Amino acid sequence: MTATLPIAPSAVCWITRTLEDAGFETWAVGGAIRDALLGRPSGDWDLATRATPKEVRRIFRRTVPIGIEHGTVGVLARDGTMYEVTTFRRDVETDGRHAVVVFAETIEEDLGRRDFTINAMAWHALREVFCDPYGGAADLDDHVLRTVGRPDERFREDFLRILRALRFAGRFELRIEPDTWHSLRGLVDRLPVLSPERVREELLKVLGQDPAPARSLELYAESGALAVVYPELDAVRSDGGWARSLATIERLPPARPLTRLAALLRPLLEERAAALLVRMRLSNAVTDEVARLASASPLPGPQAPDAEFRRWLARYGASRLGRVARIELAEARAREHEASGAGGSRGPAPTEVVESWRRARAVLRTSPPLAVSDLAIDGRDLMRLGLRPGPGFGLILEGLLDWVLEDPSRNETSGLGARAIELATIVAEDGGREGSGDG
Ligand code: ATP
Ligand code: MG
Repeated sequence: MTATLPIAPSAVCWITRTLEDAGFETWAVGGAIRDALLGRPSGDWDLATRATPKEVRRIFRRTVPIGIEHGTVGVLARDGTMYEVTTFRRDVETDGRHAVVVFAETIEEDLGRRDFTINAMAWHALREVFCDPYGGAADLDDHVLRTVGRPDERFREDFLRILRALRFAGRFELRIEPDTWHSLRGLVDRLPVLSPERVREELLKVLGQDPAPARSLELYAESGALAVVYPELDAVRSDGGWARSLATIERLPPARPLTRLAALLRPLLEERAAALLVRMRLSNAVTDEVARLASASPLPGPQAPDAEFRRWLARYGASRLGRVARIELAEARAREHEASGAGGSRGPAPTEVVESWRRARAVLRTSPPLAVSDLAIDGRDLMRLGLRPGPGFGLILEGLLDWVLEDPSRNETSGLGARAIELATIVAEDGGREGSGDG
């Protein structure tokens, strides 16, 4: 391997030295070593040690029991960063939902239970020794992703490794080694044994870590995993909208994984998108937010009257303007990119989206009333006008808001009062005709 070897942060050296001084062999392992060899900024530096969690907690003053059952203790370094220190482990038995592990004696054993060769390298921060028993560095050089050991066994131990393979191969532009690929494809129908949370976190990592997530998602599709875990998205593929979806999310930043998710869901019918989100088991608030972003109508065109912008903002929420506009802009750019090859395709040009977005912001700056609660009149005022409280009140207030959205200068008490009485007559007549006053 010709690439420069990792330079560990000083806190990693300090943790290593402290443990080694106490008699416990300790290595930096996993993703950070891989990233360093790739010349990419390393994310979290994880450590593997011969010391048991109990010993680690005894040796360091500031520790957090992150995952004692997995042998992981968080050690707080002087720089305020927390490092995960995990006791050497090896796999013993498994149900495919996650591997079951016991403590091990050596770093080689520990590396042997890791998923892919590129993730199974260790670096000794003090002795400056590189430990790579499975040839991860050579695989990185050759741009190959392969499992440590026989792919069939390794995927059956933990089916999440299938999705991890697709993520790493996409993110680092690796070819999946033929046996690994063959076995992975044959096992995608076992993915449903995994907990929805683990499957979801994998997708959010693809969307949240990778500036160019299309490669991983394309691998989801090609391997058959997409059809198993996200059939709704696989349907977008057969409808021919998949390439556009991928091109869109590549034009949105990884710092906004949920906006990217919403963009992926935009081609779906609302119920299909909702079904997928519910299956992902995100919190209700996040599910609701993503569903709203996914189903919001496009912004009014740049030539539309102000009232249309106010109606859009009232309907979808001023707080969502930026995110919907970003999605639309990304879509428009993706479309423009396509159109430069093939013939014209429908939808606004990027410059038009930018202009609509600017118009919407200008309208917002005038602080127009956008909700019933912004009206200069409320339910009590309606009663003072002699109207009888009841379900019709909501309709009247909605009607008033609609009238005010058309022209914000209408938001004053006397005009609203007169309009309310007019609306009350209409509401009462409608209610009478349908035999019930509520709506
Ligand atoms: P990322 O940059 O995505 O965090 P990473 O390699 O650090 O990449 P993690 O999920 O943080 O990935 O896991 C850290 C290390 O633990 C991996 O490099 C790998 O060696 C090992 N590992 C994690 N999950 C599994 C798994 N399901 N099966 C086997 N080994 C795993
Ligand atoms: Mg990591």
